[in-house]
Amino acid sequence: MAKSVHAVLFCSLLVGLSSAQTAPLRVLPWNGHPAAVSLTFDDARPVHLDVVVPELNKRHLNATFFVIISKLTRLDDWRRVQAQGHEIGNHSVTHEHPAELNRASEELEVEDAKKFLDSNFKSDITIFAYPYAELSAGLLFWVKKYDFAARGWQGEGESVYVAAGAEPDWYNLPSQTAYTKYDAAVYRSWIDKAFAKHAWTIFQIHGIGDPSTGFEPIPTDTFLSLLDYLKAQEAKGLWVAPFGTVAAYLRAQKTLEAAKPQLQNGEERFVWKVPAPFPSGVVLKTAIQGGTHVHVYQGKRELHPSKVGVYSVSFDSGELIVKGAL
Ligand SMILES: [Zn+2]
Repeated sequence: MAKSVHAVLFCSLLVGLSSAQTAPLRVLPWNGHPAAVSLTFDDARPVHLDVVVPELNKRHLNATFFVIISKLTRLDDWRRVQAQGHEIGNHSVTHEHPAELNRASEELEVEDAKKFLDSNFKSDITIFAYPYAELSAGLLFWVKKYDFAARGWQGEGESVYVAAGAEPDWYNLPSQTAYTKYDAAVYRSWIDKAFAKHAWTIFQIHGIGDPSTGFEPIPTDTFLSLLDYLKAQEAKGLWVAPFGTVAAYLRAQKTLEAAKPQLQNGEERFVWKVPAPFPSGVVLKTAIQGGTHVHVYQGKRELHPSKVGVYSVSFDSGELIVKGAL
């Protein structure tokens, strides 16, 4: 009896493997969380340094700041913001509408801003947000050259929730714009919806409080209530992380999942090309079939699973070898 049970188990294991030959591994979406939310703040306004960053820091939340180079004052303060774990992104040199740009100025708006940011901040800046969320073919050409992801806008509705199962347009990731008229319930509903859909949503915020602080300022108490709600949802599993962090994880996930294993001598070799540019150090939480029979390597380094059988796969390595799963 025991033998036949084992045989049945063994056979069903084989069937399971053969029916999923091309998907013996599964990257856990959103870094192992059920959903993700990113806060982005545009235009390098002083209120970001004076109110937003201290309030985020109080709650140990990190966000993204898309800065306009020509408006960037208090550079030391902005460097400190990056050092505290927040993300700095490119929002062009002058924030001109793309329709006003010619070929030369399209290049300058992206490239000069990037060069300025890279020479004044610690790490390479490889994320972009289109001014006024307006895209043009000329701008897109340079954004693709210097960035791995860009924030755009795709209207209201369901498209503002990015699913982990589909490949989004990396150069027009959707965001939801904050408006003064919205109360805290609106922002809570965005977060709740991301949770319910197991999706990622990106907030696009400008001013806070006084109308002089930027476009469509969120009333300060509404903003604080949004942060408190995010913190509470984080405690329930929500991944609250900067735009580039989530985009890099998702793009790396899509790249690894698209890698077809080469089968040889009982081992499966996954090879992928890291996009360029791309941030280094992305680690993908990956479940691999085969239980304790499996040995997983990247180069000569053997990876060991967590207690729940999840491996930390380095995306930089471009290669993963699974032995013993066949
Ligand atoms: Zn802007």
